[in-house]
Amino acid sequence: MPELPEVEVTRRGLAPRLAGRVISGVEVREPRLRWPISAEVRSLAGRTVKAVRRRGKYLLVDCGDGHLILHLGMSGSLRVLPPGTPAGKHDHFDLLFGDRLLRLRDPRRFGAVLWAPGDAKMHRLLAHLGVEPLSRALDAARLHALTRAHRTAIKLFLMDARRIVGVGNIYASESLFRAGINPRMKANRLSLEKSRRLSAAIKLTLRKAIRAGGSTLRDFVGADGNAGYFQQRYWVYDRAGKPCRRCGSTVKKIQQGQRSTYYCATCQR
Ligand SMILES: [Zn+2]
Repeated sequence: MPELPEVEVTRRGLAPRLAGRVISGVEVREPRLRWPISAEVRSLAGRTVKAVRRRGKYLLVDCGDGHLILHLGMSGSLRVLPPGTPAGKHDHFDLLFGDRLLRLRDPRRFGAVLWAPGDAKMHRLLAHLGVEPLSRALDAARLHALTRAHRTAIKLFLMDARRIVGVGNIYASESLFRAGINPRMKANRLSLEKSRRLSAAIKLTLRKAIRAGGSTLRDFVGADGNAGYFQQRYWVYDRAGKPCRRCGSTVKKIQQGQRSTYYCATCQR
């Protein structure tokens, strides 16, 4: 599943290739994604792309009077291709630009292509999203303040998009390891010092993943290959039963909110 780093790497790949270009047409081969592709999306021709932004895991193609909202769902990927590139079975949507096209491939069809007139921040999908983890807004004081009212486990708190947006299962486990915090600790027990360590660990973990993805950028802008979810080396994620890379203790796996959490009980007290 594409996580925030994949979406941010996609944004960085798309932005310079789409900004300033005029949309010449829209091709919908399969309108039944997570929500049906609307008539408004089909009539985007003539608009100019001002910028490609991101909010959480949503890509926002700024068209001046509104935004095309793109979400990759469980299996989606976006690529910029030459015009006339034959479409595969799962290539459901193209945004045409004359000399190139933006193509959404989404085998499981949990992705989304939506039009949001006006200010996209007010769209029902975006209005309630929490703080951006890579922004300056997430610092020790903010994380400390956000956690005060929550007795839920810190791992589940991190994954709640209404508090902090875009920290998925992998990055929650990895950030807590880096910060030396037990994933079962209650969120409201987080001290200011631990808030400092954790906010820094979240940013470092996401930035490292984005950097790892940078090298695979060509795979999803250009060649019609397998689009890029990148492989990384993890501290604890998916390493149950293996030795901790820091202390050698056995990495543990527990269930939290129906998701697997990986941690080292020695390093994360
Ligand atoms: Zn350890």
